[in-house]
Amino acid sequence: MEYSRLVETYQELESTQSTLEKTSILAGLFKEAEDDLPQVVLLSMGRPFPSWKDLDLGISSKTMVDIISEATGISGSEVEDLWREKGDLGEVAEEMVEEKTQQRLMEKKLTAEMIMDKLEKVALMGEGDGESVSMDTKRKEVADMISSAEPEEARYVTRTFLQNMRLGVGEGIVRDALSEAFFNGEHAEDIQRAYNFTNDFTQVAEACRESIEEVRSLDMEILQPVNSMLARKVDTIEEGFETVGRPAAIDYKYDGMRAQVHVKDGEVKVFTRRLEDVTKQFPDVAKAVKQNLSAEEAIIDTEIVAYDPDDHSMIPFQQLSKRIKRKYDIQKLKKQIPVEVRPFDLIYLGESMIEEKYRDRWEKLEEIVDEKERELRLVDHIETGEAEVAQEMQQRALADGQEGIIMKALEAKYKPGSRVGYMVKLKPVMETLDLAIIGGEWGEGRRSGWIGSLKLGTYDPETDRYKEVGKMATGLTDEQLEEITEKLEPLIVKEEGRDIEVQPEVIVEVEYEEIQESPTYTSGYALRFPRMKQFREDKEEADSVEKVENLYKQQ
Ligand code: ATP
Repeated sequence: MEYSRLVETYQELESTQSTLEKTSILAGLFKEAEDDLPQVVLLSMGRPFPSWKDLDLGISSKTMVDIISEATGISGSEVEDLWREKGDLGEVAEEMVEEKTQQRLMEKKLTAEMIMDKLEKVALMGEGDGESVSMDTKRKEVADMISSAEPEEARYVTRTFLQNMRLGVGEGIVRDALSEAFFNGEHAEDIQRAYNFTNDFTQVAEACRESIEEVRSLDMEILQPVNSMLARKVDTIEEGFETVGRPAAIDYKYDGMRAQVHVKDGEVKVFTRRLEDVTKQFPDVAKAVKQNLSAEEAIIDTEIVAYDPDDHSMIPFQQLSKRIKRKYDIQKLKKQIPVEVRPFDLIYLGESMIEEKYRDRWEKLEEIVDEKERELRLVDHIETGEAEVAQEMQQRALADGQEGIIMKALEAKYKPGSRVGYMVKLKPVMETLDLAIIGGEWGEGRRSGWIGSLKLGTYDPETDRYKEVGKMATGLTDEQLEEITEKLEPLIVKEEGRDIEVQPEVIVEVEYEEIQESPTYTSGYALRFPRMKQFREDKEEADSVEKVENLYKQQ
């Protein structure tokens, strides 16, 4: 498909807020695509690779300024000036390419396939936005693409490489558009199921083009992450039993990080809750699993918990989170913050286990986990129908410094991707919110040079947009401000006076006094006195508007 056809779609998508309209715009596009349907689907979401593919473009706004300058021969400072004026590098690229095209003949037309090939090529050149050799080549590759684009194409190529499309196309819309394009609006549930298993719209789209049987036959594949089953929240043990049934399993809820661990003939892969591949960051997890799990092929659901290397006491997630994004000094960090793997569920053992009852999955898990070393031990787990026994377990968990308990239905299947009531969490403390920083202000006086007054955003999966829910202005230490500035600066997409807008990539856990309704914030809610608790490096996406709404109702 010619890239100009995608550009048309982008413009149509931008011109409407309606989910239904976006769905039918995409359905039209998907129908037109041929063998390149997988590429077209990915590009239409503005997300070129599934998160688990461990591919990162690593192009910051600052690098893009250089790229546009290289592509158009216009000086970097001129590009920057126009960027400051327009606030969007896509528009800058468009305007500058326009200026340039008046003096040259058009080259060959861009296609969706060409863009995808280039995206992959650039991502495979490795990460790091530093001044390395690969950075030079990367810049050249993208500049090439921009200089062979028509002006309007240049706008979207730029945004795609910056990973900042803001089209309002979330997973739900793509699922519905596939259903509309290939099955007259039917079978959305089957498509969702296939996506939960594969986390890859290229596979799902190809199957949709074949037949519904093909969609239904898509299954989980080992070494490719499955969406995790999530927990509902309850306030009392009694409510917990009412939801999951009696007797139930009661586990410690550890203050760690969820990891889905895949093993296949000695190869191990570790994925976060957001399905990012963190195998490289956790060589100790891979080792523990290789040595102490007796299974040729398995997928286990685990919590990774950090402990103090001196006294072996548990240490909170905040410390562990340092390991998640770290790409260097891994061996050193591994010693400073050692971890244990605590498996709590079994998703695959030679074959899919998700249709099996939790009771049977747990039994099998007990059989394959060899607990001779502390690096791999099952979670603390009991089965009971008595409230007092459950309460004892809860107190024990809290005394051990953990968050609370998780109650699980013994007879339930594993339901990927859902917050079904098959497991519930019970935590005594107020529910915090994980929010994205979507903007801020450059400080003044003593705080100049630091970004403060952080705008907090909650995620709306339907529209794939962030909506503001409050501003965190006070209570940040100098150290936190420094760290925040360091993280946010490369993510700036717009600057106006002291105000900045950033890509919503930094997720923070926030405490607050209460949630109020708000006519000013786009989410419709405002947090009173939000305070930063910690960075959530393990998350890529903030809590949803729906969660804020539910918490508001529960107050
Ligand atoms: P939270 O922020 O409360 O950890 P979450 O949104 O990350 O919640 P939920 O599904 O709501 O995820 O809560 C369950 C989480 O609890 C799991 O994702 C997992 O990381 C963690 N957890 C800790 N111990 C267990 C356990 N024994 N069984 C299942 N999950 C556990």
